[in-house]
Amino acid sequence: MAKIKKTIRTIKVDADKCNGCRTCEVVCAAVHSLPKYSAINPATSRIHVITHRLNDIWLPVFAGEYTPAECNGRDKYVIDGKEYDECSFCRASCPSRNLFKDPDSGLPLKCDMCEGEERPLCVEWCLNEVLIYEEREEEVEESLEMDDLEVGLESLIEKYGNELVTNAFSRLSHKR
Ligand code: SF4
Ligand code: SF4
Repeated sequence: MAKIKKTIRTIKVDADKCNGCRTCEVVCAAVHSLPKYSAINPATSRIHVITHRLNDIWLPVFAGEYTPAECNGRDKYVIDGKEYDECSFCRASCPSRNLFKDPDSGLPLKCDMCEGEERPLCVEWCLNEVLIYEEREEEVEESLEMDDLEVGLESLIEKYGNELVTNAFSRLSHKR
């Protein structure tokens, strides 16, 4: 397979600096509302801050890939004496929790690095410098990656079955 240059964009999380202000959730929800900045519903955010006030835990987690399968096992972590709940570090939109799903459609949400913006907005607005944006070039094998539309379609098929989704599309396309 051919090799291509790819820009890898990452956001490093310096979790010790996070104070749980949730500004990152608010700005992410706002920029992804339609039209942009017309609404703020943190349930639509692609970043979620896991909080356990008594344990002094504030952990920003970004929405990653959608997965139709639940894990067979769950992991708990103890770091510096703080115990993190099962699933705390997991970025997946999955069937076993409501996190990273659009509250209206149920479709999975994924961080798109604020496509179309100059820089990720959660990074810009995190005044505690918890979120650090980095870019690097890497040579990778050319592959076909699913775009957001395909990920959404896959989750609809998972939920309703191939036949129902195909029939719905066929009805819609006949109306146009
Ligand atoms: S904006 Fe920064 S400090 Fe506030 S919750 Fe998000 S990551 Fe933490
Ligand atoms: S980079 Fe953009 S899309 Fe991703 S979590 Fe931050 S604000 Fe949301």
